[in-house]
Amino acid sequence: MKFTRRGFIKTTGAATAVGMFGLPYLAFGASKKVVVVGGGTGGATAAKYLRIADPSVEVTLIEPNEHYYTCYLSNEVLSGERPIDSIRFGYTGLAAHGVNVVMDAVTVIDAGKKTVTTAGGQSFGYDRCIVAPGIDFKWDTIEGYSPEVAETIPHAWKAGEQTVILRKQLEAMQDGGLVIIAPPGNPFRCPPGPYERASQMALYFKQHKPKSKIQILDPKGKFSKQGLFTQGWERLYGFGTENAMIEWHGEGEEAGIVAVNAANRSVTTKFGDEIKADVINVIPPQTAGKIAIAAGLTDDSGWCPVNLKSFESTIHPGIHVIGDASVATGMPKSGYAANSQAKVCAAAVVSLLNGQEVGTPSYVNTCYSIIGKDYGISVANVYRLAEDGSKITSVSGGLTPMDASTDHLKREVAYAHSWFNNITHDIFG
Ligand SMILES: Cc1cc2nc3c(=O)[nH]c(=O)nc-3n(C[C@H](O)[C@H](O)[C@H](O)COP(=O)(O)OP(=O)(O)OC[C@H]3O[C@@H](n4cnc5c(N)ncnc54)[C@H](O)[C@@H]3O)c2cc1C
Repeated sequence: MKFTRRGFIKTTGAATAVGMFGLPYLAFGASKKVVVVGGGTGGATAAKYLRIADPSVEVTLIEPNEHYYTCYLSNEVLSGERPIDSIRFGYTGLAAHGVNVVMDAVTVIDAGKKTVTTAGGQSFGYDRCIVAPGIDFKWDTIEGYSPEVAETIPHAWKAGEQTVILRKQLEAMQDGGLVIIAPPGNPFRCPPGPYERASQMALYFKQHKPKSKIQILDPKGKFSKQGLFTQGWERLYGFGTENAMIEWHGEGEEAGIVAVNAANRSVTTKFGDEIKADVINVIPPQTAGKIAIAAGLTDDSGWCPVNLKSFESTIHPGIHVIGDASVATGMPKSGYAANSQAKVCAAAVVSLLNGQEVGTPSYVNTCYSIIGKDYGISVANVYRLAEDGSKITSVSGGLTPMDASTDHLKREVAYAHSWFNNITHDIFG
């Protein structure tokens, strides 16, 4: 038998992995194949944890981008508090865990044939597939807003280039300018995100352009951590006064925007008012990522229904959906939730591949929002699966107290930064 150097390393590596008494699986060809679609927070975590849970599983992760930019803490890039490079991550860590990382976009998932095909013409068979494509936008819901218009009126709701465009616009704006943030209705990625964004913009303006204003035109009557946000805005940015740097217009269902006019940089509200602004940040209504829709994994809601114990699709058995794209009833669409769901899903997939029963999971989520310098808030929850399996229920948790001390608020910022370091290491390290 002729050994190539690569083949020799593969064989000896495998022998080490399974041990002296384990089955030399390479000799028979790997029999447990998982293809993960999307190398973001959910997908990258699942790929890594599959390999940790069972090194005999052959894991292929397919992702079109060489680098992933985290949305978490991207609002600090907008305020100039951190550079864009600090939220950029690559895939060498995953490759070191034995994940086969393929830079390509998935175009077809064939649930019948159990194959995944890419734009580059590659085809991969799988025993189980994990789909984690994040979100896409409902471009047809706001007149005049399109992927082309988003190049000058950014959403910055997928971090990276869009974040940089928005930051540059804030830097170029004159003191006394107006920024409009137009968040979507529920459900959407990161419920506290638009309000943290307004806070971070205000933090920047307070130091550099103190006459500027931010108006949030919200179709919702209330929003995540509202009491804590507005208290912080009152203390730091004059919220509720004539000189408020942040205004929130969300009364009733009538305050959202219905149209964008890129030519004269204005938005039209549901009342028909036209408001001109110097910088506009439209965060459009959302659905599961396009590939999930194309694969027939979504229902009428535009999101993917799943069995909450294993995240297996209730539409296509053998395919699991995690992260923002899934209907994880009871959990928010957040990075920490996607990370937690990925671990639950990886454990379930390994059990299923090994003919074992899937355990009853618990899940976790914490979401920090940085409102100003030394001023952070958070919400944290530990969850269990409801007995009838119909939802994920919080069994413990809480919010930053309204009477938190200045020290406590300052510590929340340190916790937020340390959470970021930990989770990004957990995903990509
Ligand atoms: C401004 C902002 C702030 C946020 N702050 C926080 C926070 O503080 N804490 C927190 O927990 N969460 C936060 N979030 C939310 C968090 O970013 C998302 O919930 C999380 O990224 C969801 O993970 P995901 O894996 O579902 O999707 P993503 O992380 O978006 O990953 C999807 C991946 O799939 C890939 N993909 C898509 N289509 C294909 C295809 N056809 N083929 C192959 N790959 C594909 C994409 O390129 C991408 O890499 C924030 C979000 C925003 C916008």
